[in-house]
Amino acid sequence: MLSQLTIRNFRNLSALDLEFPPGGAVIIGENGQGKTNLLEAIYYLVLFRSLRGAKDGELVRFGSDGFFVGGTAADHRITAGYEIAGHRKKVTVDGVAADKLSEVVGRLLAVPFSPADAGVVGSGPAARRRYLDVVLSVSDRAYLTRLAEMRAALRQRNAALRRGRGDEARAFDAPLAEGATHVAAARRRWVDQWSARYGELCAALGESDRAEMRYHAHQPAADDASGWRERLAGSLDRDLRRAMTTVGPHRDDLKLALGGRELRAYGSAGQHRTAAIALRVLEAETLAAARGGREPPIGLFDDVFAELDEGRQERLLRLIQESLPGQAIVVAPREAEVPAALFDRPRWQLKGGRIVG
Ligand code: ATP
Ligand code: MG
Repeated sequence: MLSQLTIRNFRNLSALDLEFPPGGAVIIGENGQGKTNLLEAIYYLVLFRSLRGAKDGELVRFGSDGFFVGGTAADHRITAGYEIAGHRKKVTVDGVAADKLSEVVGRLLAVPFSPADAGVVGSGPAARRRYLDVVLSVSDRAYLTRLAEMRAALRQRNAALRRGRGDEARAFDAPLAEGATHVAAARRRWVDQWSARYGELCAALGESDRAEMRYHAHQPAADDASGWRERLAGSLDRDLRRAMTTVGPHRDDLKLALGGRELRAYGSAGQHRTAAIALRVLEAETLAAARGGREPPIGLFDDVFAELDEGRQERLLRLIQESLPGQAIVVAPREAEVPAALFDRPRWQLKGGRIVG
């Protein structure tokens, strides 16, 4: 639960100091006033990265040299600051600077719901890999460490391939294989563990056809690091020709299907939205399970109710009560778009990046 939030020069939010009640708040503001920016600032304290995948530099208010976000949650103070000069990012917990982000990611837990989530279902595999990677990183620090190692090795291997240096590229096969083994196995475990629940959630949200989720390896996965090393060695010639690493979990996908057909290709806009919401509820349940039920994650709702018909809205609210029983911070352009059930919270008006009433 977030009790206090300080924001300085984060996007259009020049200076905000907010006290949140345990139930959360409803924030109303016209288009372009900073509602999504506010949720992005809160979520920055979860992942220390932009929720929308923006670069840190883009989060700095135009004309400023850096931004700052600080929050108090369960008596801990978490802060994040970024300075454009030198691209310096500093994260602290209770005044102590964190050496590694992997130590502090997931201290505060929140689940962001946004209409843009439908794009995770409807676009290419990268968005769904990012979803998996965020859920797993926030719920399991070891995963984040492995993922970072894998990405660093991949970057360096690809750079060597682009220079046409197969000998240099091969030097990264071992660390890449090590990371790939863990990343692929953890993703697959998660999907196996939660796929039945995904189907239940889609049904609970009103989908009548059977919803399925499965992990799809771009090429058959290896069983262990030595298997991945062999695959990498075997693909070196092709990788050199294409100047990129063509095998590994960085090419996999989370396949979503409805009634036996791939949602990405055949689903309607409403079906994409439903699946996206089911994925967010799944994220909430994963984080709650990782915490052993203590301190449920905060729900950050960016105008998600407006697009749903009444039946789906009610079903979603019921799911939220079960799976995200903690704080809810809801933003919307109009009060009419916030369901009555969430109205027992203070209501604030946001205009030009400031709370005006
Ligand atoms: P909508 O209802 O349309 O979703 P919103 O209230 O969620 O609107 P935001 O996305 O939070 O709007 O804020 C958008 C505003 O923030 C835009 O006016 C944009 O120009 C401004 N903005 C984005 N990045 C920066 C930045 N780095 N510095 C200053 N302003 C920024
Ligand atoms: Mg917005």
